[in-house]
Amino acid sequence: MKAQTSSSALSVARTERVVGTIIVLGPPGAGKGTQAKLISAAYGIPQVSTGDLLRDNVARGTELGLKVKALLGSGGLVDDDLVCDMVSERLGRPDCDRGYILDGFPRTVVQAEWLNRYLKSRQSGNGTAPFGGMTPIVIRLVVEYNRLLQRITGRRSCPTCGRIYNVYFQPPKVEGICDVDGGRFVVRPDDTEEVVVERLKAYEKLTLPLVDYYHTKGRLVEINGDQPVELIAAQAFNAIENVNRL
Ligand code: AMP
Repeated sequence: MKAQTSSSALSVARTERVVGTIIVLGPPGAGKGTQAKLISAAYGIPQVSTGDLLRDNVARGTELGLKVKALLGSGGLVDDDLVCDMVSERLGRPDCDRGYILDGFPRTVVQAEWLNRYLKSRQSGNGTAPFGGMTPIVIRLVVEYNRLLQRITGRRSCPTCGRIYNVYFQPPKVEGICDVDGGRFVVRPDDTEEVVVERLKAYEKLTLPLVDYYHTKGRLVEINGDQPVELIAAQAFNAIENVNRL
């Protein structure tokens, strides 16, 4: 009885307290989106995926969407300024006030430096969030190259609920159909093998340096991303609970 009380007290605390900035870092296919969703549900803070935001802009035909459409399908990275402006607008919304999970951002050292400045500016009173000065917790998912290729080229997602499947490792009960809501799967155009190789190259060249960048700041937690989803999530929650944020 006592244990039940304290565990429910903990879950209330998780969904009410200030969590700050959590970054999920890793190559395409490492499972960032899946883990970001689980953390989002456990802590009641939004998942901010720059890939999803960019795709949404393309789908809505916004000015930003028109600018990035061709590039998005090629595996290259969108201009830092465009992405940072988009992130700034998203993080300024009230649902981010207790914190948020960044999925796919920062992706370059320039973006990481921008984020540092942004968090400092929120701390110094230009924003409402109380966690501006808190150093982000960076959760790095580590997965071997060939495994990534299989994961991405087998990836399918439900257009209605956003659930992600894999035809090799996590197939749905009925081929091509979402178990949750019966939605018909879509394949992201940038999940084809040629584009994936480009995306992995861009990761190694531009994003991998962030591992060193955050390592020196002492808030990097490395997790083996080639484990069952729940086990990775448990390790991620543990990291969020235990990392020294000050
Ligand atoms: P993702 O869904 O995170 O794999 O992102 C899909 C595509 O969106 C990438 O291949 C890039 O072209 C673009 N993109 C997403 N996030 C960023 C970012 N932080 N910086 C630059 N480009 C990005």
